[in-house]
Amino acid sequence: MAFKLIDLPYADTALAPAISAETLSFHYGKHHQTYIDKMNAAIEGTDHANASMETIVAAARGSNQGLFNNAAQSWNHAFYWHSMAASETAPSDELKAKIDEAFGSVDALKEQLKARGVGHFASGWVWLAEKDGKLSIEETHDGDTLADSDFNPLLTVDVWEHAYYLDHQNKRPAYLDAVVDGKLNWAFASENLARGSAWTYPN
Ligand code: FE
Repeated sequence: MAFKLIDLPYADTALAPAISAETLSFHYGKHHQTYIDKMNAAIEGTDHANASMETIVAAARGSNQGLFNNAAQSWNHAFYWHSMAASETAPSDELKAKIDEAFGSVDALKEQLKARGVGHFASGWVWLAEKDGKLSIEETHDGDTLADSDFNPLLTVDVWEHAYYLDHQNKRPAYLDAVVDGKLNWAFASENLARGSAWTYPN
């Protein structure tokens, strides 16, 4: 059973000007679609043909780098689209309390997310994650993911250049300012925290 590209959870203009419809047409319509297509081609006719995306990510990690990259990137991008919202949503009381405990305040967390995103060398992902009841900011490089990790990922921001080049050119700080100050979907993070286990790709 081939995986389908998830529907974007908003109109392609919803994230502008932080992320334009033009960026989404490439990032979602081309990059994400290509990861899905390549993963589907790699699993067709194999033992993974009917597996969940999370099972494929875990099985391919360390043994099949090509499949891992395409499966992990398929998962990461779907999680990223859900991590964004047309306008910033509110965290649950539970999430707000955990943020206050770990970072002092939502604003302090935002500043740390931006700093980690700006400081991340080359391509990758910056995450808000939970483990053993504690929140932390994590980074993964290139196509790596928290999907099969000990962490429960709550939110992610793509810091690959393809995420921002058309809108902000090389200015990753401007992209992070625009996304972190107004487009984060704290309601999605709250659902992930309440579930207590990693989000799964809907297919
Ligand atoms: Fe990307």
